[in-house]
Amino acid sequence: MQENTVKAAVCREFGSTLSIEWVELASPGPGEVRVRLSACAICHSDITYMSGAWGGDLPAVYGHEAVGVVESLGAGVFKVREGESVLVTLLRACGECLFCRSGDEPLCEGEVPLDTHSPLTDAQGSPIVQGLRTAGFAEAVVVSESQIASIPADIPAPSAALLACGVITGYGAVARVAGVPPGSRVVPLGAGGVGLNCIQAAAIMGALTNIAIDLSPNKLEAAMTFGATHALHATRPDVVDEIKTLTAGRGADYVFVATGSGAAMAVAPLLVRRGGTVVLVGMAPSGLKVEYEPLD
Ligand SMILES: [Zn+2]
Ligand SMILES: [Zn+2]
Repeated sequence: MQENTVKAAVCREFGSTLSIEWVELASPGPGEVRVRLSACAICHSDITYMSGAWGGDLPAVYGHEAVGVVESLGAGVFKVREGESVLVTLLRACGECLFCRSGDEPLCEGEVPLDTHSPLTDAQGSPIVQGLRTAGFAEAVVVSESQIASIPADIPAPSAALLACGVITGYGAVARVAGVPPGSRVVPLGAGGVGLNCIQAAAIMGALTNIAIDLSPNKLEAAMTFGATHALHATRPDVVDEIKTLTAGRGADYVFVATGSGAAMAVAPLLVRRGGTVVLVGMAPSGLKVEYEPLD
């Protein structure tokens, strides 16, 4: 018999310290998998939720960039076996809707039982929200089988966990959403976890010019090791002109906004060439408004 009581970091009040508690984790239902976690990264989205900036119900357990070992399977799950190393991600797909059938699972508009029924309850039997569809700040999770992917067991868990969100968000924006062709001129705005993976993906796709922009000298330094061809501090007064100069005077073919900053979202259209593409990747806080002049 597996133990259904697990330790979790519960958010009971926005902006307060998480409460470490014993909680009940339901057994996996049909199409669900229980994973014993070995690592869970802390994403900026977790921090934003914990601060209350995106609202939502409490108590909740956040955490959605996890890695671990399959502990048990619900009925009808054949994708993985017990004991297999897996990533756990917040991307949940019904497998039936228009988007799932056309290979765009991250846009899924369907519903699975976990969307309406959290597997977590506290010691008093009250429900706890499965934050970001995962509740990875815990010893184990129960998620839809669509949320897991097998990985080699020898990738160190803290590194593998990053594949569950930051890496695929940055890589996916560049390689899948934009489909950046070789020889492109690319400007990723923001060189955090997602931005570095935009930079890395653009380098893999064969970008000719790959200009990292950030406020942090450390992040700009990291950007150069991830494949950026140039790194510019965001506050340089002539940064827009510098980017124009580095992109044959036209502006970038693609601008990726890998930050939730309104200033970055506002400046992006000024950096892209005529007919170019701006991809908004970063998650903005609720209520953020961005102004821009269409004639620019
Ligand atoms: Zn994340
Ligand atoms: Zn779907």
